[in-house]
Amino acid sequence: MSNIQDKVVIITGASSGIGEATAKELASKGAKLVLAARREERLKKLQEEIQSNGGKAIYKVTDVTSDEQMEELAELALKEFGKIDVMINNAGLMPLSPVFEKKIKEWDTMIDVNIKGVLYGIAAVLPFMRESKEGHIINISSVAGHLIGPAGSVYSGTKFAVRAITEGLRKEEAVNNIRTTIISPGAVATELPEKISGEELKSGIDEFYKVAIPAESIARAIAYAIEEPSDVAINEMIIRPTIQE
Ligand code: NDP
Repeated sequence: MSNIQDKVVIITGASSGIGEATAKELASKGAKLVLAARREERLKKLQEEIQSNGGKAIYKVTDVTSDEQMEELAELALKEFGKIDVMINNAGLMPLSPVFEKKIKEWDTMIDVNIKGVLYGIAAVLPFMRESKEGHIINISSVAGHLIGPAGSVYSGTKFAVRAITEGLRKEEAVNNIRTTIISPGAVATELPEKISGEELKSGIDEFYKVAIPAESIARAIAYAIEEPSDVAINEMIIRPTIQE
């Protein structure tokens, strides 16, 4: 039996890309899923697909930038399934632009979703995980959390922050038997680059994404981290297309 069987897993950003692929992968291994994002139709469709394949999933329309909504999400998981084994803070945005262009709204959104959303997700599940002396928090960073490219200052800033927060959390919560995992994907074929507003930048990004690997590659890595026995923590993984420099 898979070590994922009957684990209760919350996934933010489950309405597309990596979150959606992860939901399908974990459902096929017997997880009980709580799916979160803002686009209800997508969540509903995913829930129905998982259920028609014999899996278990519920969903809640959630904006990760709302501390209250994240608390309600954790409460729903506890009410429906009685526990939370894994929290996957995956929701994120990448509207790249040079700092000089001063796209303050985009900076704010990236900071709110990519950093604060992760913090709110952690804070929502931590009391329960500490009490049960067990849990696993998986945060999605990026290769941009290791390297900085032009137009990536703010996005990289948020993804470096995700790594820093996760490592800090590891130091604080290892004593409570809570595992932490940082996932840093390279180019993955999802809707993520569609949020880039600068036309010139878009063509360069299209070139970068030519080698992109499917979201299922990241889903399998996440499943592996969860599947390890609870005394083994996969703290960090970088998953790139083999031919990405
Ligand atoms: P997608 O654009 O396909 O997915 C992003 C998800 O985030 C969507 O489900 C979206 O749902 C959700 N989201 C965005 N804003 C919010 C919000 N305020 N509240 C709740 N959910 C939100 O991209 P990916 O699957 O690629 O992105 C997933 C993660 O992977 C991100 O953190 C991204 O930075 C990271 N990543 C991706 C890489 C890639 O090449 N694709 C590379 C490295 C990292 P909705 O709009 O319905 O709310």
